[in-house]
Amino acid sequence: MTSTLGATTTTSGTSAPASPARALVCRGCGKEYPLAAQHACYECFGPLEVAYDQAALARVTRAQIEAGPESIWRYAALLPAGQDPASRVTLDPGLTPLISAGQLAAEFGIRGPLWVKDDSANPTHSFKDRVVSVALTAARGLGFARFACASTGNLANSVAAHAARAGVPSIVFIPGDLEPGKVVTTAVYGGDLVAIEGSYDDVNRLCSELVETDEFEDTAFVNVNVRPYYAEGSKTLGYEVAEQLGWRIPEQVVIPMASGELLTKVDKAFSELVEIGLVEAPANGWRVFGAQSAGCNPIAVALHNGVSDIIPVKPVGIAKSLNIGDPAAGLYALEAVRRTGGWMDYASDDEIRDAIQLLARTTGVFAETAGGVTVAVLKKLVEAGKLDPDAETVVYNTGEGLKTIDAVAEQVGPTHRIKPSLRGARDAGLLDS
Ligand SMILES: *Cc1c(COP(=O)(O)O)cnc(C)c1O
Ligand SMILES: [Zn+2]
Repeated sequence: MTSTLGATTTTSGTSAPASPARALVCRGCGKEYPLAAQHACYECFGPLEVAYDQAALARVTRAQIEAGPESIWRYAALLPAGQDPASRVTLDPGLTPLISAGQLAAEFGIRGPLWVKDDSANPTHSFKDRVVSVALTAARGLGFARFACASTGNLANSVAAHAARAGVPSIVFIPGDLEPGKVVTTAVYGGDLVAIEGSYDDVNRLCSELVETDEFEDTAFVNVNVRPYYAEGSKTLGYEVAEQLGWRIPEQVVIPMASGELLTKVDKAFSELVEIGLVEAPANGWRVFGAQSAGCNPIAVALHNGVSDIIPVKPVGIAKSLNIGDPAAGLYALEAVRRTGGWMDYASDDEIRDAIQLLARTTGVFAETAGGVTVAVLKKLVEAGKLDPDAETVVYNTGEGLKTIDAVAEQVGPTHRIKPSLRGARDAGLLDS
């Protein structure tokens, strides 16, 4: 792949605004590269990130965004691809509910406003639709003919569904021990689905090798060779929360971490909104909190140990969507949490199960295990005095409980089992005598 993005963004030929993306820039040494399918720096091997024309971003107005479509594409002027609607490879995700969670706040002794950003409401029921829409739109603009990914589950669903909608072949790679709810919801879209006898980190390593082969030269792996574009899609989870709060940034956000990318991009989104003058920062800034599971906690452990060396782990436990033992953006997540004065913690499988049920009972939101991780960590952060119970807090639910139903299947069930008669109801205590 030698093409670059700028040349091919406008497929309709005329009126679509240009992409505000300017270059790819190395997060390690700052070296810049053209907007191509490249994810690592040739000089220092650091990860590349999209850099923007700040003047173009600064021209974006609230009114322009508010007049846009009811999807992530209302923020197209702040994204690296998709300015021309005809160029989009998308299920139109985004504008998911921001739910006031007073009962949950009361359970945890939180007195300030508490909100749940419920991204399970996306088309394939996780936040991954945001990153995939941006990545695959960029990928098509770059001339790729097949879509792929290395997935912990939700990404597989989303890539397969986007490819199906666009009529493009797909091949997705998953660890062999994924939840059936994530295998079926990927396979149903009809692309190639490769289950690998190994962990996600093994899957990811293999994909990094495949992408270099001739047979995969035409293939965009959303989280490998087009990763810089993929990562930018996560910014919409920051923009959206700010807009839904009436163009305000919350004082605290609690975010689940797998690679750590989502956390860094929500923070980046808030910074951009302030820099381009669309919102004012809260008086004391915002604080970013990260959540992992006890079975896969390398980023949180590095924070707790006060170091910046992230020691990879072999993940275990039920929060499979977060089970990345060698997190690509871990260092940057640490940096964002330290810079903003936040914290990280991790939750055991039992705490995750309890938190899934508590969130469901108090908000009507049935989260997958990642949501359980985040809510369980919210509780710990309050108990440890790390999170200010009087400040405004947004907790992100990134996935849908129906995909990980086994996590709580043994804890909940019918509260009564009766014969189909009034007598049966009476015997069960549902009627007075
Ligand atoms: C992928 C995923 C995340 C985290 O993603 P990163 O950007 O890799 O940290 C969080 N929640 C769910 C449900 C996911 O599928
Ligand atoms: Zn570099």
